[in-house]
Amino acid sequence: MYIVPEAAIADILTRDDAFAAVEQVFAAMSAGDAYNFPVIREAIGHEDALYGFKGGFDGKGMALGLKAGGYWPHNLEKRGLINHQSTVFLFDPDTGKVAAMVGGNLLTALRTAAASSVSIKHLARKDARVMGMIGAGHQAKFQLRAALETHSFDKVIGWNYHPEMLPSLAEVAAQFDLPFERVELDGMTEADVVISMTSSFDPIFGTAHISPGTHVACMGTDTVGKQECDADLIVAATVFTDEVAQSITLGEAQHAVKAGRKAKEDIHEIGAVINGTHKGRTSDDEITLFDGTGVGLQDLAVAASIVEVAKAKGIGHEVDF
Ligand code: NAD
Repeated sequence: MYIVPEAAIADILTRDDAFAAVEQVFAAMSAGDAYNFPVIREAIGHEDALYGFKGGFDGKGMALGLKAGGYWPHNLEKRGLINHQSTVFLFDPDTGKVAAMVGGNLLTALRTAAASSVSIKHLARKDARVMGMIGAGHQAKFQLRAALETHSFDKVIGWNYHPEMLPSLAEVAAQFDLPFERVELDGMTEADVVISMTSSFDPIFGTAHISPGTHVACMGTDTVGKQECDADLIVAATVFTDEVAQSITLGEAQHAVKAGRKAKEDIHEIGAVINGTHKGRTSDDEITLFDGTGVGLQDLAVAASIVEVAKAKGIGHEVDF
């Protein structure tokens, strides 16, 4: 078994590699070459933690395995650790023997940021100029950095429930020589692309805050009961997702679908847009919305790419297991 510890990931995984792995696996999912297993995610009744497993099999990339981990909301405050903790395990699809164990924390941030970036590449208007952020926690910085690397923007605006966290977004914008402006939610109408990345359980924004033609990537909702935007926005937008089954059960679309306001058939796979079997955005005033729920195959694809580079660079440890 090959072990790549968390501390080594930053020297191995580039944003470009994460983007390529995620774009490819979304396409493979849509083509029917790769599938995710049902997700298990439980409130364990300890430390308010959500813990679970996301797994799958990519028969094209030959990646089999799972990511185990979750969200411990008090980690940062109590222990100085990030709130997400996870580890990816890869198995040999030919034998079932464990093949690799890979630190999953930075991997999760980069693969999640890659997902919204893939959606921006394929769904945002080419003339999008103002990047809007809702949320300013650990993941939000990665989201913003990847978005600014994917598309050329003139300005970043941001809102957060805890406004004292917004300077972390201003720092990222400054790294790209872009101005950053703190706005109230009403000011989000200026944005051409909006990423929401919060741990909210109640709708924060909706149709009143999003202008025609905007691309919205809702990235925070990955659990039953969570919600970032109101159902009206889901109804008004053309909705795309990584995986329809997750979108309607634990993703941003879950509430509109359960209320009977959005049909499952009206939620489209981003992989179909990548493969060219769905046309994607069709007009400059259409609101497109990517419901990024986070699938196990993203983790496996990125972990497999990490193991390949780690072995080539001699980083990590081979253990007899
Ligand atoms: P974090 O704890 O670092 O940040 C939480 C963010 O949510 C902050 O911006 C905070 O101000 C905001 N927030 C907290 N309570 C809120 C409320 N009641 N209303 C509105 N905003 C509120 O967390 P993080 O690591 O940045 O993760 C954010 C969310 O993203 C989590 O819910 C996590 O489960 C989810 N996530 C999704 C994926 C995916 O693939 N879709 C991947 C990783 C994380």
